Amino acid sequence: MIRLDRFLANQGIGTRKEVKQLIRQQLVRIDGVLIERGDHKFDEERCVVTLRDEVIEHHKDVYLLFHKPAGCVCANHDPLHPTVFDHLPACYQRLSTVGRLDKDTTGLLLISDDGVLAHRLLTPSRHVRKGYEATLLKEIDDAQVMALTTGIDLGDFTTMPAEVQLIDAHRVRLYICEGKFHQVKRMFHAVGNEVTALHRFSFGPLSLGDLPQGEWRPLRTEEIEELK
Ligand code: URA
Repeated sequence: MIRLDRFLANQGIGTRKEVKQLIRQQLVRIDGVLIERGDHKFDEERCVVTLRDEVIEHHKDVYLLFHKPAGCVCANHDPLHPTVFDHLPACYQRLSTVGRLDKDTTGLLLISDDGVLAHRLLTPSRHVRKGYEATLLKEIDDAQVMALTTGIDLGDFTTMPAEVQLIDAHRVRLYICEGKFHQVKRMFHAVGNEVTALHRFSFGPLSLGDLPQGEWRPLRTEEIEELK
């Protein structure tokens, strides 16, 4: 059994607040019966839910887009540090982050219980493109850009060519398709620079849009389809 408002949010219809509004506007029915309360519980496996008379596809996995602030770690529990899950309601504590961002990195984090999709998105051969904005200690120069766009030997592996877009002398957008531990920081360190702030603004087809830091929203159905 699940609450109607949570079911609608999990299906990517909107935030809890938005779906409560849809319910209040008398747009949601379960098995043809108008339901006006978000806390109404029903059996999601057996019932048909409609919004404006359209059947809502039921996917049982949950997919959240989170705008990670600095200062929290990508773990479900940590004895020393706040975690990204401290920003999420109790019902989402069982989910997992799809990959990790460092404690001081901000930006787009996908959180889900769909382990199959997570595995697929993280497999290097899938080449899922991630976009980072890096703020640098020193001015970036042509030699650094050349190395980043050619591939860098980091000892344990050689990076694939990255795409680099200069914002100004100390800020760049870097696009990579791999996701090794501390990869972006290690790449800049290897070319003689240092990252002083790092922000991920895109992950495959997903981007943060105007989602404020520390906030989350369910992925929309079309965003889930695009990821798969
Ligand atoms: N690369 C890094 O160095 N850190 C991150 O958090 C993500 C990518």
